[in-house]
Amino acid sequence: MPELPEVETIARQLRRRIRGKTIASVRVCWPRTVAGNRAEFNRRLRGMTVARVSRRGKYIGVEGADGTFFTIHLRMTGKLVKDLDSADRRHQRLCFTFADGTKLHFVDARKFGRLRLWPCRGESCPGLGPEPLRSETVRRVLKKLRTNRPVKSVLLDQTVLAGIGNIYADEALFAAGIHPLTPAASLSDAQQWRLASVIPQVLRQAIRRRGTTLRNYRTVADESGENREHLNVYGRAGEPCFVCGAPIGKIRISGRSSHNCPDCQKMRSVTSDK
Ligand SMILES: [Zn+2]
Repeated sequence: MPELPEVETIARQLRRRIRGKTIASVRVCWPRTVAGNRAEFNRRLRGMTVARVSRRGKYIGVEGADGTFFTIHLRMTGKLVKDLDSADRRHQRLCFTFADGTKLHFVDARKFGRLRLWPCRGESCPGLGPEPLRSETVRRVLKKLRTNRPVKSVLLDQTVLAGIGNIYADEALFAAGIHPLTPAASLSDAQQWRLASVIPQVLRQAIRRRGTTLRNYRTVADESGENREHLNVYGRAGEPCFVCGAPIGKIRISGRSSHNCPDCQKMRSVTSDK
């Protein structure tokens, strides 16, 4: 599932490709791909000139010169491509044709991806926490946490911080040397500082590498992300830790698999908190 670095990569490429173009027509192949009123979606988008492409959490935002605003949420397998190969053709859900004759296809094998029109830009993506790309922001969020839920679950909670998913939560916790089951409210000051400094680093590095391709994720230019070979723990269960050599462990936390090094990410003893 694309997380912040993958969605940011797609938003940047999309900006270069579609900004200034006018949407001539929208063809919806799978009705549920459009959330909300489909007739209005078609009516508002037809003739819209793309003024701005943005990202918020895992959402891509497309804004028209007339203020029309819609979001694209890729979810599990959604992708945006300019050309369809034979495999894509079976899973095409929506197609934009621009006035210059170019196309943009929304392809989504699992059909969870959604496009949605919003009344105005300010009301888009309600309930999302702040962006985790600045250490000060992340530290402020971590400092306020009063929950004993595992820190891993809290990092995945989009209302706390927007954009982090399973891969980058595991990688950030490893980089900070924090066990994923550590209750969020019991993080020490030092742990909060470390986590707040590594989260933006891990995400920004992944953006520079155009994200992580495990299976489905492709950029608009149909490239794979290059971050996979730089992962320290995610998807490496049983393989030796690059730092200490211990086998990377895999546990379940709130129904998701979680990867960690049992030696580099020890739980702090409870007595030190009393
Ligand atoms: Zn280790």
